[in-house]
Amino acid sequence: MAGLPYIVGNWKMNGTRAMLAEARAIDRAASRFPGVQVALAPPFTLVNAMREAASDIGVGGQDCHVQASGAFTGDVSAALLADAGADFVIVGHSERRALHGETNQLVRDKAEAAQAAGLGVILCVGETEAERDSGSAETVVTDQLAGSLPQGEEAAAKLSVAYEPVWAIGTGRVPSVGDVGAMHRAIREKLTATYGEAGAAVRILYGGSVNAGNASELLAADEVGGALVGGASLTAEAFTAIIGAA
Ligand code: PEP
Repeated sequence: MAGLPYIVGNWKMNGTRAMLAEARAIDRAASRFPGVQVALAPPFTLVNAMREAASDIGVGGQDCHVQASGAFTGDVSAALLADAGADFVIVGHSERRALHGETNQLVRDKAEAAQAAGLGVILCVGETEAERDSGSAETVVTDQLAGSLPQGEEAAAKLSVAYEPVWAIGTGRVPSVGDVGAMHRAIREKLTATYGEAGAAVRILYGGSVNAGNASELLAADEVGGALVGGASLTAEAFTAIIGAA
């Protein structure tokens, strides 16, 4: 496995200030597991407050604009996220690809903008159910990677890839451990073909309905270096169980 297991919670459009209590509890739990790297991606509105409330976890954004500043009403740049205390940003989540029409090229531009601002990047890829059923899942995912992997000298050093089958997100369904391992091996091949040796150190996370009950098995699959967790990251109790499983 490349580096410490990396367990990242994506709070999506959830998280009032009252939920900072959960973040504090997750932070305390993370300090008890020094062999696991833990991070949370709250909504933009909580990034700074969470950074100040927690010391043992990474804090990141869920998206960023490609420009550093300017007349882009409603958008948030990587530079602004960094200024708010973020360490990383998620780009290319399937909800953004599907609901905001984000293309591979746009995702790549966002990843490069984030890295230029000093942020780590978690780049999401994953196939739909129809693509899995038609046998094209691996081609779809490696094509997404070909189009959206950031380029540049430091690109691999500040990158994680999250494999998130769209049909597994928020559904309670997960692929077999064998299918997860096969996809992660295909992703590793693409990473080493793109970045050479540096591609071997990029962590590949699994995401999609990870919970306390299935985390150990999924995290033990081939080339799985951590998990990107949605629903089960919203409470300290559920998320701590996943951290413990890593
Ligand atoms: C996600 O949206 O990144 C995710 C993995 O969600 P869930 O864990 O709720 O399936």
